[in-house]
Amino acid sequence: MMPMDQKVNFYSFTLEDLQEYLKKYGKEKFRAQQIYKWVYESRVTNIEEMSNLSKDLRAELKNLISFEMPPVLKHLVSVDGTQKFLFDVKDGNTVEAVVIPSDDRLTLCISSEIGCNMACKFCFTGKQKLKRRLTADEIVGQFMQVHDSLQKEGLGRRISNIVFMGMGEPLDNSDEVFKSIDVIHSPWGINLSLKKITVSTSGIIPEMYKVANAKVRLAVSLNAYNDEVRSQVMPINKKYPLKDLLEECKRYYRATGEKITMEYVLLKGITDQIEHARQVVKLLKDVPCKINIIPFNEHPGSDYERPSDETVQAFHTEAMRLGAQVLLRRTMGRDIFAACGQLATKIDHPERMDISNSKIGGTHVRSFSHRQPSI
Ligand code: SAH
Ligand code: SF4
Repeated sequence: MMPMDQKVNFYSFTLEDLQEYLKKYGKEKFRAQQIYKWVYESRVTNIEEMSNLSKDLRAELKNLISFEMPPVLKHLVSVDGTQKFLFDVKDGNTVEAVVIPSDDRLTLCISSEIGCNMACKFCFTGKQKLKRRLTADEIVGQFMQVHDSLQKEGLGRRISNIVFMGMGEPLDNSDEVFKSIDVIHSPWGINLSLKKITVSTSGIIPEMYKVANAKVRLAVSLNAYNDEVRSQVMPINKKYPLKDLLEECKRYYRATGEKITMEYVLLKGITDQIEHARQVVKLLKDVPCKINIIPFNEHPGSDYERPSDETVQAFHTEAMRLGAQVLLRRTMGRDIFAACGQLATKIDHPERMDISNSKIGGTHVRSFSHRQPSI
C-alpha cells in the first residue's frame, strides 16, 4: 500500500484533472463524474461506500486519493449570526473563513494565503508577512468544512456566495485560487454560479485579466482618493498606481460587462472627509463600478481610528448625492474579530471583544471547539 503522504488530495482535482488522473491508471472518464457526485453531492468520502464503482477500482483508489480537509480548530458564532472558522493549515499556522448571513444570501469570505506581503497599513493580515500560499485543496477544504457545518446545523442553509476577501491577496496566488474556483463551480460538484464568486484584489495589475477570463466578479481595494494617500496606506500602489489600475478595471468591464466593486475603507481623518468623497467620485467617474464603503475595523496595534457613525453617514450621503452607486457595508462579526481586516494567522488577539456600547449588539458569543484528536 502506498504511504499516506503520496496520496493526492481529492479537493485539489478539477473534474478535468481527475479525468486525466484516472486515465493515467486506465480508468474511464465518466468515473470522475461519478466520484465528484459522491463527494460533492452526497458528501460520501469513504470510497468503500461509492457503490457504483467496481470493487477493484475502489481498492485502487483507496491507495491513491485522500479526502483530507484543514481541521477546524475553532468555530465562533457572533450575536449577529456571523460565524468564524479557524483552520489548521499545518506547521502551527492557521487561516480563517467567515460566514456572513443577510436576508437573501449566505456569503463565505475565504482565505487564500497565510499572511500577506502587500503590507497595507490598516490591515491586520498585512502586519503578518506571507508565510505560505494556500493550495487549492486547502481553499476548497475551507469551503467544504463550512458547507458540512451548515449541513449539520440542519437549517437547510447553504453557502450562496463566495468572496476572496479573507486573509491574503488572491492574485498573489492565482493558480491555486482559480483552480479552487473551477472546482467549486463545477456542475458535477458544488455547482456555484460564477456570478456568485468575487475575487478581491489590492490591484496586482498583471494578474487581473485572469479574473475576467474566469468570468467571476472583481472587487478592488481602492481605499483612497489619490495616489499620494493610496501609496501611504497601500504600498502596492507605488508599483501599480491608480491610473493603470483604473485602466485595467475598465478593461475588465469591457471584457465581462460586469461592474467592479470598489472597496473603500474609511480611516478617521485620512480618507473619511466630505472632500474625500467628492474626490473619489470624481476619480471613478468613468469606471463602471459601485463603491462599497467600510468603516475601519480596529485590531490590536492598529494605527488608525474608526470614524464616527455621523462621519460615515455624511460620506455616504455626499457620494450618493454626486450620483455614485454606493453601499455602506454593515460591519458584521466585530465581536468575534471576524470583520474585514481583523483576521490573523495566529490567535494573538482576545477571542471576543466587548461591543456592548456599540450599535451592533451585545456580547453573547457562542463558542465551539472542534479540535481534532490528531492535533
Ligand atoms: N487582499 C485582498 C482581499 C483581502 S482584504 C484585497 O486587499 O482586496 C479584504 C478587504 O478588507 C479589503 O477591501 C481591505 O481593504 C479590507 N480591510 C482590510 N483591513 C481592514 C480594516 N482594518 N477595516 C476595514 N476593512 C479592512
Ligand atoms: Fe493583503 Fe488585502 Fe490586507 Fe492588503 S488589505 S494586506 S492586500 S489582505
